[in-house]
Amino acid sequence: MLNIRYEKNTAPKPIPGPENPLTFGTIFTDHMFLMNYETGKGWHDPRIVPYADISLDPSAMVFHYGQEMFEGLKAYKAEDGRTLLFRPDKNIERANRSNRRLCIPEIPEEDFLQAIKAIVKTDEAWIPTKPGTSLYIRPFVIATDPFLGVRPSDTYLFIIILSPVGAYYPEGLNPVKIWIEDDYVRAVRGGIGEAKTGGNYVASMAAQVKAHEDGYSQVLWLDGVERKYIEEVGAMNIFFKINGTVVTPMLNGSILPGVTRDSVIQLCKHWGIPVEERKVSVDELLAAAKDGSLEEVWGTGTAAVISPVGHLRFENTVIQIKDGGIGELSQKLYDTVTGIQLGKTEDAFGWSVIVE
Ligand SMILES: *Cc1c(COP(=O)(O)O)cnc(C)c1O
Repeated sequence: MLNIRYEKNTAPKPIPGPENPLTFGTIFTDHMFLMNYETGKGWHDPRIVPYADISLDPSAMVFHYGQEMFEGLKAYKAEDGRTLLFRPDKNIERANRSNRRLCIPEIPEEDFLQAIKAIVKTDEAWIPTKPGTSLYIRPFVIATDPFLGVRPSDTYLFIIILSPVGAYYPEGLNPVKIWIEDDYVRAVRGGIGEAKTGGNYVASMAAQVKAHEDGYSQVLWLDGVERKYIEEVGAMNIFFKINGTVVTPMLNGSILPGVTRDSVIQLCKHWGIPVEERKVSVDELLAAAKDGSLEEVWGTGTAAVISPVGHLRFENTVIQIKDGGIGELSQKLYDTVTGIQLGKTEDAFGWSVIVE
């Protein structure tokens, strides 16, 4: 149990009203959670303080060698006024898996959850209530030793910041166009692809820029060795419905194990839809598109929840999935997951956690 020190923000900012369109990740609340780590001392000095700049030595290791872990989850306001988190235990478990891979000390799970609940409770008034909106929670750890040598840091800072975010698709679900990247790769087995860390994102940016220039919103990555098998999208896992079966690339060590991915697999199985986690080659996909058995494609991730895919491009081939609209199962998954997150749909799996 953490003994969290509170320092109230005496100059609070105006909370955005319902008229504010709230784009992603630009507005931050009045407080943040901080906790330090030092070898020999462990995690200490948990505190909630006014949101402000932090001061670091220019030689702080995170700036040079990227020793950093982050997470992303959301808090929702239910109609009855309860504040709900969606499967925070899964994010916490994954954070510590990332920490182990990145040589960052683990954070005790119950302390992590207590910290999330405490900061969300502090700035609860910032949770927007319009349909599709939520409070995005960004926990992260950075290496802070002032040292230019290469080794794991002896000191760290754990921070949680909060950002009210709008509906990912203000006009409702909107199919995206996806570029299958055949040149750059994001991650390889044995690397850091299955950890949630900034390094994976910087590795993806050149391809993202290229795809944007061609009018595609996201990149779909192929495996780093053969460039033959589908891995995942920039910040989303990917699903295909082929001939009535839901197919998604298996977790092979270079794919990020998404919480939304896991939720979608469980829901589909619950509904009696066959689900296969296996290797999916780009050739299989092109063939399925050609013979009409590729029925739906969607991405899964905390930000957009379910993101229907209308177009895929691979080299010079452009595939339109069915009529380029939203698939029936994609829509049902979106409605069910967001319904559970908002406390409107029966939570048969016990995924919602109340912040009290
Ligand atoms: C966070 C993330 C996802 C989605 O994970 P969720 O837990 O569903 O939000 C997928 N891929 C990458 C690379 C990610 O960083």
